[in-house]
Amino acid sequence: MTRSSTSAPRAEGPARPVEAVIFDWGGTITPWHTVDLVEQWRVFARGAGTIACSLNDLAAALIRAEDGAWARGRADGTSARLVDILLGAGLQPGAADTEAGLAAYRDFWEPHTLTHPAIPYLWEGLRDKGIRIGVLSNTIWDRDYHSSIFERDGVLELIDGAVYSSETPWVKPRAEIFREAAAGLGVDPSVCVYVGDRSYEDVHGPQSAGMRAIWIPHSDIPESQQVSHQATPDAVAHELSDIADILAAWSLGAPTPQRNRHVEG
Ligand SMILES: [Mg+2]
Repeated sequence: MTRSSTSAPRAEGPARPVEAVIFDWGGTITPWHTVDLVEQWRVFARGAGTIACSLNDLAAALIRAEDGAWARGRADGTSARLVDILLGAGLQPGAADTEAGLAAYRDFWEPHTLTHPAIPYLWEGLRDKGIRIGVLSNTIWDRDYHSSIFERDGVLELIDGAVYSSETPWVKPRAEIFREAAAGLGVDPSVCVYVGDRSYEDVHGPQSAGMRAIWIPHSDIPESQQVSHQATPDAVAHELSDIADILAAWSLGAPTPQRNRHVEG
């Protein structure tokens, strides 16, 4: 028996349908930016009308409150909201100075919220194949704010379901939040693929809920935000356009394309 001369990919097993692809937001739907997380709160404090020592004190209190919220999320998987951080820093939500600070804070963030230009084409192509598009983000921001960003960038109507951790008790990598995202799309986690840039939250997390995970490995995640784990991504996307190729292979039961296989180290 001679080896087949055909170049068709070897079947790896039965084709496993993909009915939904769920995307992380920061560093995935948006291109990765290293954001000065201390400066964001100095901008807030300046916008709120504080000066000199009181500006430094308010910014420091906000930084402590936010760092504490994310550290709790990594330690026990519980979520936080922007209002929690404001209250934790002694601010009154809705007060004029707080609102002025928030306006400055949102201006600071705006350039970091832009949707990657490859996203509309990718999402339209997946939807044309009958695949539902989901968003699942660890965020302190509310749905209205995220929706306004997607609407500004013309992609809101391409999203079939979105889960924001600020609206749930959990953050990624808790399995509960992935199951909620799948349920919101009306599908079982086993037919979902999750795409994200943080291996603990976005690979270990979805796999623990029964999803496959595509990792985007090019974000410069600060070491203090990394958590060690044993998970291996089902595929690696170096560009967003790789995702369609990976899904096409999987839908045929073919192997993951060579360039999208995970290599240890
Ligand atoms: Mg991310």
